Amino acid sequence: MSTNPIAINASGSVWEKYLSSRMENPFQKIINPHTPTSVSITIFLWVSSYLSIFFSAVLRPLRFFFPANIIYIACENINMKILLGPAGAGGFDGSTIEGVRKLPGLGLQTMEVQFSHGIAMGNELAKKVGLENKKYNIKLSVHAPFFINLASKEKKKVEESKKRILDSCERAHFMGADPVVFHPAYFGGVEKEKVFQATKEAIIEMQGFIKRKGWEVRLAPETTGKHSALGSLDETIRLVKETGCFLCVDPAHLFARGYGKLDFGEMLDRLKFIKEPMHFHFSGIEYTSKGERNHIVLDHSPDFMEFAKELVKRKISCTIISESPITWQDSLKMKRVFEGMGYRFYKEI
Ligand SMILES: [Zn+2]
Repeated sequence: MSTNPIAINASGSVWEKYLSSRMENPFQKIINPHTPTSVSITIFLWVSSYLSIFFSAVLRPLRFFFPANIIYIACENINMKILLGPAGAGGFDGSTIEGVRKLPGLGLQTMEVQFSHGIAMGNELAKKVGLENKKYNIKLSVHAPFFINLASKEKKKVEESKKRILDSCERAHFMGADPVVFHPAYFGGVEKEKVFQATKEAIIEMQGFIKRKGWEVRLAPETTGKHSALGSLDETIRLVKETGCFLCVDPAHLFARGYGKLDFGEMLDRLKFIKEPMHFHFSGIEYTSKGERNHIVLDHSPDFMEFAKELVKRKISCTIISESPITWQDSLKMKRVFEGMGYRFYKEI
């Protein structure tokens, strides 16, 4: 008798004949070359379903005891993506292109280009950064200059502020960067609601301009650290709801506003209505009665580990920009925190 399975199955059912003619089943050879195709397929389905039950029912709960092992990684990395990187290329001789080139080697995925003290980059350089960025696949965002007050009593200052933000958006467009983060306004003795309305109007106007230009860039007012500035979590969420803009949440700023108090879980729950991946800044922070004094390294309050836990618990995809004085080094520290919880960073974005 021939040992060819197809020849053996020739005497079997019509279904077996059909299967035999359609496929050469590798599993059949592993079990026994004489096993009919239908039997080997059944065994294969049994084994795979038992494996999946074992994996989800038995291994999954174990991840809490062995958080850094492969079980957690395989179960939890689905539907959550974290991108980490520095604020600015200061740690890489200051050149944005140099930063984009070095980040993948460090195992980081994102960078916020800093126009904090003015926009020195022209459109041509922005285009070059964009080309380079395509090669290295780094997600870029932009921080617009600090000298912005969309609610200033002086009209000229408002116009200059809008121009600084829109110029940042233009560079962002050519770099392929998004969003453009900015500190929207200061109260300066003006009634809070008036400042809010002026900021809202300015954002809506800038959004119209961005749309007409065809730039794929979102405006992201940031939660600010000083009580003198517009940018509490409430005010920022209200701007998002009333203008459709995006936002940047800096938990360190909110921690300083709250004089050392911030419930990360509650903060994240209030942001649930945002369906896109979030954009965060993080660092240690010092504060006074007026709020933020200055950014310090990650080892200080607020507690990054607590923040990371709440993010992982809620599976919140996000970018986290390190605004510590040692930018990328603290990004690597953040990375170790997530890896300690079993999160695996993909090389590709
Ligand atoms: Zn900022």
